[in-house]
Amino acid sequence: MIAAKGYAAQNAQTPLAPFQFERREVKPHDVQFDILYCGVCHSDLHQIRDEWGGSIFPMVPGHEIVGRVTKVGAEVTKFKVGDLAGVGCMVDSCRECENCREGLEQYCLVGNSQTYNGREQDGVTPTYGGYSNLIVVHEDFALHVSEKLDLAAVAPLLCAGITTYSPLRHWKVGKGHKVAVLGLGGLGHMAVKFAVAFGAEVTMLSTSPSKEEDAKRLGAHKFVLTSDPARVKEVKGYFDFIIDTVSAPHDYNLYLSLLRTNGIHICVGAPPTPAEIMGFSLIGGRKSIAGSGIGGIPETQEMLDFCAEHNIVSDIELIPIKDIQNAYDRMLKGDVRYRFVIDMNTL
Ligand code: NAP
Ligand code: ZN
Ligand code: ZN
Repeated sequence: MIAAKGYAAQNAQTPLAPFQFERREVKPHDVQFDILYCGVCHSDLHQIRDEWGGSIFPMVPGHEIVGRVTKVGAEVTKFKVGDLAGVGCMVDSCRECENCREGLEQYCLVGNSQTYNGREQDGVTPTYGGYSNLIVVHEDFALHVSEKLDLAAVAPLLCAGITTYSPLRHWKVGKGHKVAVLGLGGLGHMAVKFAVAFGAEVTMLSTSPSKEEDAKRLGAHKFVLTSDPARVKEVKGYFDFIIDTVSAPHDYNLYLSLLRTNGIHICVGAPPTPAEIMGFSLIGGRKSIAGSGIGGIPETQEMLDFCAEHNIVSDIELIPIKDIQNAYDRMLKGDVRYRFVIDMNTL
C-alpha cells in the first residue's frame, strides 16, 4: 500500500482535520498522480454534513482533481509519467451494463464507484477523494488535461463543468434558445459560460444583487434578481430551459412559471429535502421537470477538450487547505466567486 495524507471529516459534526490513510499499489491498468489542485463543490458540504444520508466516515472529500502522473502500471496505454491528469466524481463502474457500454457510467445500473464517500467495485473498500496528496486510479477513469490552461482553474471543470455541459448538450441548447441559469455559484457560473459558448441567450436568476456585474462579465445577457417580484414578472413564460443549480430548498412552482410552453426545468442542484410541485405548474404549458447527473467519461473528455479549444476555465479563489472551513461557511451564505480551489501544496 502507498501512504497518503489528506483532510478528512470523522463524522457529520466536526470540522475537517489532517488524516493519514493508504492508497492501493499501482496495478497494471492504474495511474498514480500527485494532486496539485482540488476544487470545492457544494456536494462536498452536503456529504460531510450527511445531508443526503448514508455518508461513509472518515471521509476525504474532493472530486475536482488535477495533478501530474508519477507512476503508471505495466499495461497502461493512455498516460505516461509527467502527463497532466484529472479525476472527477467517479473512479470506476461495472463497465458492462447498457449505460456503461454507452459511456454513461454516471448512470451505471450496478452503481458506479464515487471518487469519495463511495466504495470500489468490490463493494467493500472505501474511496477517498482529492483533498489529499496523491491518488491511484484506473486509466479509464482518468482524464487528459490540457497544458494550455491555468491548471488550478481547470480543476472545477471535473464536476461543475461537466455537470452543466452535459445537460446543455443533451437538450441541444444553442442558438435561438432562451436559457435561464438559476443560482450563480460553482455550477451556475459554468452553466453561463457554456450556454453562452453554445449560442443561447442567457439570463441569470439570482438571489444576490452583488453578483449582477459578474454575471454580465461571465457572458449573461440579462440578470434578474429573484427577490424582486416586478423583475420576475417580466420573464414569466419566457425561457425554453432553466438550469437549476440551487443547493437549498426553493420554490420550483415559481420558476416553472417562467418557462414557455414545452419548456424544461433541468435540476442539477440537489437540495437535501423534497420539493412540493403543483401538477398545475406543469400542466399549463405542457412543461417538464428533468434532472441530470455529472456526465460520462467520454463526455467529460469532450468537455475538457472543448474548454481547451475555447479557452474556458472556472473563475476561482485559490485557498490553502487550512482555510477550508471558512470556504464552506462562505459557500453556505452563497458567497462564492465562483469556485474555491485548494492549492494542495499547502497540505
Ligand atoms: P454553490 O457554489 O454553493 O452555488 C449554489 C448557488 O445557489 C448559490 O451561490 C446561490 O446563488 C444559490 N442559492 C443558494 N441557496 C439558495 C436559496 N435558498 N434559494 C435560491 N438560490 C440559492 O454550489 P455548487 O457547487 O454550484 O452546487 C450546486 C448544487 O448542485 C448542490 O446541491 C450540489 O450538490 C449539486 N451538484 C449536483 C451535481 C449533479 O451531478 N447533478 C453535480 C455537482 C453538484 P445566488 O447567490 O446567485 O442566488
Ligand atoms: Zn461536485
Ligand atoms: Zn455499469
